[in-house]
Amino acid sequence: MRVLITGGAGFLGSHLCERLLGMGHEVTCVDNLITGSMDNLAHLVGHERFRFVQHNVCDYLFVEGPLDAVMHFASPASPQDYLEYPIATLKVGALGTHKALGLAKAKNARFLLASTSEVYGDPLVSPQPESYWGNVNPMSPRGVYDEAKRFAEAMTMAYHRYHGIDTRIVRIFNTYGPRMRPHDGRVVSNFIVQALTGKPLTIFGTGSQTRSFCYVDDLVEVITRLLMIPSDRTPEQRTDRQSFLYKGESLGETMHEPINIGNPHELTVLEIAKKVQAMVGKPTRIEFKPLPADDPKVRCPDIRRAQTLLGWEPQVSLDEGLARTIEYFRKKVG
Ligand code: UDP
Repeated sequence: MRVLITGGAGFLGSHLCERLLGMGHEVTCVDNLITGSMDNLAHLVGHERFRFVQHNVCDYLFVEGPLDAVMHFASPASPQDYLEYPIATLKVGALGTHKALGLAKAKNARFLLASTSEVYGDPLVSPQPESYWGNVNPMSPRGVYDEAKRFAEAMTMAYHRYHGIDTRIVRIFNTYGPRMRPHDGRVVSNFIVQALTGKPLTIFGTGSQTRSFCYVDDLVEVITRLLMIPSDRTPEQRTDRQSFLYKGESLGETMHEPINIGNPHELTVLEIAKKVQAMVGKPTRIEFKPLPADDPKVRCPDIRRAQTLLGWEPQVSLDEGLARTIEYFRKKVG
């Protein structure tokens, strides 16, 4: 396959570039490098099936030749980043998704959107199934990311229904692993870097909020699995607008509707801090800081759709994944 991936220089994007090249595909990576980094791609540059284009996906996007798939992964993704780049975050979710879908349409390529568990906001239902509509505050500082991704999902479904594009949407829950930036701002990288450098571990709020962490290799596995499934419909079936409008489809009926991907092993932030402290094995304190506005109180994926549709389950335990991630950061900062 010839695959174009936006945000390919980021944490998840670079792992996907590597995996797709390893599977024998051709990869074009598009990234404007505001939060992504060429360091993540250094080992791929020069590969005969790899191409890097520095470009903002919100601007007109075109590449020569055929494409089989477009994967839209460009976006600031750490709360720290989308608070620093609120407008770029809204634009890449809205305008960037539109451009990436337009490219998929022009090339008659499959399209895969990286969405997020943030579409559920501060959820009132837990674990969160895909059928839950969420509890998002659009005015909140973190609403920029949530609403951008909700718009991106709506735009993707509209291109699927109106233009018959073969689309897929993954709602990615908290993910960690090598190539997160040391100052990324997300909880696992923060705690590991703090523990390795002897600084206090910063817990926002009381640490009673929960998250569920998936190791990056598990995520890359399920995303490539979903990308490779052949379409279940003819283009005519995909643009049967009357059927979409009047009969509707019950959610979960097809591979085109959003799929949660993540590891359902749920912990409190305090539990994660203690685990990281114990695994790094250096004496460090815990420091409590104010909880950011609208920080979700719970988050845990219901992954039954991914299990049924893709026969997928996370394989890497938290202990194993943390050990590998600590090893990575030890070389960087330790
Ligand atoms: N958090 C924390 N200390 C940090 C960074 C984050 O206590 O140094 C908390 C944050 O408030 C949230 C959870 O850890 O409750 C996960 O935060 P992260 O930024 O990793 O991603 P989120 O799940 O909020 O998108």
